Amino acid sequence: MRTFETILILAFICNCYYYKLQMLKENVSNILERVGGAAVRAGRSPVDIKLVAVTKTVDIDTIREAINAGLRILGENRVQEAQRKISNLKSQISNVKIEWHLIGHLQKNKAKYALQLFDLIHTVDSVSLAEELNRQAEKAGKVQRILVQVKLSEEETKHGASEGALMTILGRIRELGNLRAEGLMTIPPFFEDPEKVRPYFRKLRELRDEAESAGFGLPELSMGMSGDFEAAIEEGATLVRIGAALFGERK
Ligand SMILES: *Cc1c(COP(=O)(O)O)cnc(C)c1O
Repeated sequence: MRTFETILILAFICNCYYYKLQMLKENVSNILERVGGAAVRAGRSPVDIKLVAVTKTVDIDTIREAINAGLRILGENRVQEAQRKISNLKSQISNVKIEWHLIGHLQKNKAKYALQLFDLIHTVDSVSLAEELNRQAEKAGKVQRILVQVKLSEEETKHGASEGALMTILGRIRELGNLRAEGLMTIPPFFEDPEKVRPYFRKLRELRDEAESAGFGLPELSMGMSGDFEAAIEEGATLVRIGAALFGERK
């Protein structure tokens, strides 16, 4: 009974697909609910917090389902991987506007490509990267929206401007006509317990407030991931970057 076996296998595949889709939809609504809850606890409006769905290593089909499930801001950490996904998806979804964000470290020699792909670059962390981005943005006739990444710990492996360099970088960016700094971003050290991460979130908000007193308009705070986004929202996050809690643990 070949046909029967084929039907069984097909039914199984459909079922797995349906199951995965249901899981994703449940994760999306669960996360949105928790985002809203954290906002309300902090006396903030849930609409002021944007969910950046981190799709690094996630396959195209799943990303398409994520878009169907209502996600509109997608975050990638590698220029090349994003390039492949964006051009692949562009041909399939022309009716919805997706915002792509770069959340990974950017090398100067990729500035030109990053600028063609991303609506917001979260990871500008030096004057020289800012200048290169500005140069490329000017050539492309674009004003590039950026965040300045700040490093608040001593970890060697992390990128980001030091606290001491922040004002200098912001000052230089203000002079660059084709960049618009909209806020700050940080990746704190990893702790299982979100309460241990909270001081880093608070610190980033304080740095932002200081910069604002010095005349910089920096409404956005990109902070908080799957394990700690509620604490980040309570401390003022406007952009939370969530991967695993939406798509499952990465391999
Ligand atoms: C991978 C990544 C995230 C998402 O982390 P999860 O724990 O999967 O939510 C957020 N921000 C940056 C910069 C990342 O590289």
